[in-house]
Order: sequence, then structure tokens, then C-alpha cells
Amino acid sequence: MFKLIHLHLDEDRTMAPKNGRPGKRATHELTLGRRRFLTIGLTALVANSVAARLLAATQSAPASSLEVSIEQFSSAGKSEGIVRVAKIVKADAQWRTQLSALAYGVTRRSGTEVAFSGEYASNHADGIYRCICCDTALYDSKTKFESGTGWPSFWQPISAMNVVKSADSSLWMQRDAISCRRCDAHLGHVFDDGPRPTGLRYCMNSVALHFAPRA
Ligand SMILES: [Zn+2]
Repeated sequence: MFKLIHLHLDEDRTMAPKNGRPGKRATHELTLGRRRFLTIGLTALVANSVAARLLAATQSAPASSLEVSIEQFSSAGKSEGIVRVAKIVKADAQWRTQLSALAYGVTRRSGTEVAFSGEYASNHADGIYRCICCDTALYDSKTKFESGTGWPSFWQPISAMNVVKSADSSLWMQRDAISCRRCDAHLGHVFDDGPRPTGLRYCMNSVALHFAPRA
């Protein structure tokens, strides 16, 4: 609409005679020009709001869930701020192609790797753990602790924005599952028997993560 305003004002200006002061006819045309612009402008405004309402009506729920806010981190683990990004949604066949069978089973089918079988339970290296599916930063090694469970354990995610907690009543247990905000990958569960300062234990599957040494 603002582009329209400029366009029409420019058009109006061209109606003025070259001496700079619009004559009677020019002034009349200028007024007509503005009136026309107002009509067009208002029509555009109404059309826009109708289009917006139609769009909202047809796409309401899915459209709002197609974007998510996550906190981005550098390879040094430094926050680069909150960004609005497209949610990653892929067909099952695409995930199967991208991931190992085990990673697919855990992240896309809410499976659990065998305790002590993963490569990160005993990883003490300094760095950042990211989602195996979409590379979103999930945990900093600074919050990793030795839980003795055979699964990599952390007392907090790198950002509360990057994970989602949801009730999980599978296997006759009441647990809180943790998944990746951006791609919905199942990562593991969180329990309230962790160490200080949070008292939480984010019990993750190694195969759902990708570790990158701090750079
Ligand atoms: Zn992810």
C-alpha cells in the first residue's frame, strides 16, 4: 500500500507544469489523482484484509505451527540469539534415508537405545551436542554429568527454547519425554533425580545426538 502512495504522489507531481506551481487544471487533476489513489488504496486495504482472513481461515493451525523460535549457538557454545525458523517436517521415507536404522527408531519412533551401547554415555570431551536430525543445539558438555545409567545425562538443555517436554505414558510408566523443538525428534526423557543446580536429569539417547568439539 505504501508503494502505491509513492507511485501516485509521483504521478501527481508530473501533472504540475514545469514552472513548479500547478495551474488550475493541474491542481484539479492532482486532486482527482489523490482521490483515485485513495479509492484504490482503500480497495487494496480491504482486499488485503479479506485475503488475510481467507488465508488465516484456510491455513490457521498448520501455518502457525510451521515456524518455531529457537536459540542459535555457535560452535563455541555462545548464544547467537533467538531466531524464527521453519519447522522441519519430512516424510518418513526421507528420515529413513537420512538416518541410521537405530537413529530412525529412536528419533522418529520414540525408541530407546540399549544402555551403555551409545557412543556418548562416557564422552567427557568439551563441546556441543546437536540434534542428529536437524543440527539444532541441544546440550552443552558443561552440563553433562556421570549418571551411571549408560545414557548421556545432562542437568539442563543448552536452551529451554530448543527442547519440548511432553507427557509419555508408554510402557506402563508416567514419564516426561524430551524432543527437539525444530524437528520433533524424540531425544529421551527428563527425570527429577538429577544433580544441582537444577535437580533434573535429562537422560538422552546418544544416537539422537551429534557431538561437535568446542571450536
Ligand atoms: Zn531436531
